Formats: sequence, C-alpha cells, structure tokens
Amino acid sequence: MTLQQLQPQVDETKRRKAEAALRQVESLMQEIRRREESLHPSGPGQEQRVWTGIVRYVNADLSIDAKAYPNLLTVLYELTPGPELTEFRLSELGKNDDFFYLSELSGARKRDLISLASHYQKALKNLLLWLCQPKSHPEIRLEALKFLEVNAHGEDWRIDYNEDPIASLGDFDEDKGPFLYFVKEVRFASIMTPVCKFIFKYVDDPPKRLPIRICKRPGCDKLMLPERIGRKEYCSPKCCALDHRPAHKENKDYMWLYRLNKIKSGGTLRRRLKGDPDAMKRLRQIETRWKDEPKFTEKTKEIRARVRI
Ligand SMILES: [Zn+2]
Repeated sequence: MTLQQLQPQVDETKRRKAEAALRQVESLMQEIRRREESLHPSGPGQEQRVWTGIVRYVNADLSIDAKAYPNLLTVLYELTPGPELTEFRLSELGKNDDFFYLSELSGARKRDLISLASHYQKALKNLLLWLCQPKSHPEIRLEALKFLEVNAHGEDWRIDYNEDPIASLGDFDEDKGPFLYFVKEVRFASIMTPVCKFIFKYVDDPPKRLPIRICKRPGCDKLMLPERIGRKEYCSPKCCALDHRPAHKENKDYMWLYRLNKIKSGGTLRRRLKGDPDAMKRLRQIETRWKDEPKFTEKTKEIRARVRI
C-alpha cells in the first residue's frame, strides 16, 4: 500500500479524534451560539483579540486541542461584520455550489468546521511565518503571497435593492438618523477570506511589521504574540531551556572525557581518577548531566570499565 492510499485513513482517524475532542466543548459552542449577537466586530481591542485568536489557531494541535475550534469560529465572527447576511462558499471539500453561514458551523455543520480548520492551518502558518521572517524563508514567498492574494480577493457583495430600510422605518428625523441606508449581502470565497483581508490590510496600509514573533529555538516555529515587542523570545520556558543548552559546557565535558580515554595505561588512568576526588566528582557530574546522550555514556562506561570503579 502506498503512502497516498494510506492518507485518507490517516485523515479519517484525525477527524474522528477531533470530533471526540469537539464533543467535550459542546458547551463552548453553545456559548458562541448564545453570544452570536455580540460576537461581531466591536470597539477597542478587536485587533488584539483577532491576532491572539489567529496565533492560537495556527499553534494548535488540532487532533487533540478541542478548544481550537471554537477559538477559530470566534475569530471568524470577529472578522465578519454581518454574520447573518454573510455566506461562505465551501469549495475546498469538492462541493462547489455549497454555502453556509457561520452559525451553522457551531451546530449542524460542525464536521465542516473540523475539516476546514485542518485544511487551512498549514497554509496560514506559512503565510505568517513568511511575513515574520521573509528574509529567512524565500522558498515560501510565492506560495504565501498567492495564498494572501487569492483569499483576500475572495469577497463578493451586492446591495439588496428590494430591501429598503429607510422606507420601512416610517417617520424619523433625517438629520439624526438612523443611517442604515441599505442592506448588503456578502459572499466570502472561504473562511480564509476575512482572515486574509485582515492580514492584508494590516501589512499593506501602511506597510508594517506583524505583531507576531516566531519562537527563537531552531525547529520550533511556534508563533507568539508578545505583549511588548522585544521582550519575549521563546514560546515557552521549555523552548528557552532547550535552546540554552550550554554548548560550551558540552564541549568541555566531552574533551575532558576524551583526554582521560587517551591515557593508554590503565594504572595511570586509575591513579588519575582515584587519587583526585575532584576528578571523580566531575565524572559523576558528567554522567548525570548527559545521561541521555550516548556520546557521553559510552565514554564514561568505557572509562569505568577500564579502571574498574
Ligand atoms: Zn518554541
């Protein structure tokens, strides 16, 4: 069986896991449905909330992190001014003429939310990675920019001429309003359309650096949102500790063992160690410090075997 044939099963397993996880946060989904009215863009802090939500979504392990789904849905509500008048096209899953409203994603169409969340996570992460470190990642430039362009372009709207909010208001003072001139119906090409529109607007006008940073530890690539720029360098204390592995200490310990092993005579080596409490102490320290590193454990075992200590 080829890897490609295996792929649908892998996806199926992942989807089942995600659904099980999602059942645990049914209450969160209900909360979203209940608050739907107040979830669209409102007042101060919206930009910060959206960035926080985007970072949370991109960093999430979607196969176990159930809260990542309501989080993504909340971001979409934040970025959709009229959710009850906005249709999203569902072309990703091979259904070209299928449309849905955001409210359906927390209810009848939860499975679509799961599929779409997995579908876009990698591409969105690449876009953000490139925007944060464009010099370090020239290889994803085109892919990232196309993703941004295609999705940011995916808005189609029209005014409903049959609906006249002014006429239906009856008598009101023209100088004071209210000023609902028309009803606009919107179609987004995908759930990434409002997200990419937001990102595009942020970086384009005027051009500026994203508020997001990438974890400094090589190979981690997690996104983070420092409260103050320049403060946070690692996504977690764990990454910080891993990246501060004392390379110079490692080299010194290695050289120390190397020189011990170079002593040809077993007697000399034995005297060198047994006659010097500091040397024995250091040997034990090295054994503890690098107990998971074969390049050290092999050498310390060899030394102990030679001098029988
Ligand atoms: Zn990290």
